[in-house]
Amino acid sequence: MSKGIALHWRLIPRRYNLIGTECKNCGEKFFPPRKLCPNCRRTGDIEEVKFSGNGEIYSYTIVHSPPKGFEYMKPYIIGVIKLDEGPLLTAQIVDSKPEDIEIGKRVEMVFRKVIADGSSGIIRYAYKFRPVD
Ligand code: ZN
Repeated sequence: MSKGIALHWRLIPRRYNLIGTECKNCGEKFFPPRKLCPNCRRTGDIEEVKFSGNGEIYSYTIVHSPPKGFEYMKPYIIGVIKLDEGPLLTAQIVDSKPEDIEIGKRVEMVFRKVIADGSSGIIRYAYKFRPVD
């Protein structure tokens, strides 16, 4: 997974949807979106696909030392989410205490405002996940 693409994607509140791609040739789905299917190469047929935003916690980390500007969030939870469609992605898990998080727990995507830089007032949006019961 390319970190550059993931970051770029996260900063765009694009339709508030989780848009990835799918190879119509072999059926594999990608997030972040890929233009070339690693399985099929040139014979692949890539199309955009919208993911449901539903999945489960594949793994997670509790972050006790957030980067500068995010101290108010501490501690927070970064999870690797396995989407129902297959791809894994990394995102913050919100609306939950660290002790309530476990591998395999069902989650759904939510879009949340992120104030990235208090002095400039820039507000960005990011996808995050919250547990569903
Ligand atoms: Zn393919």
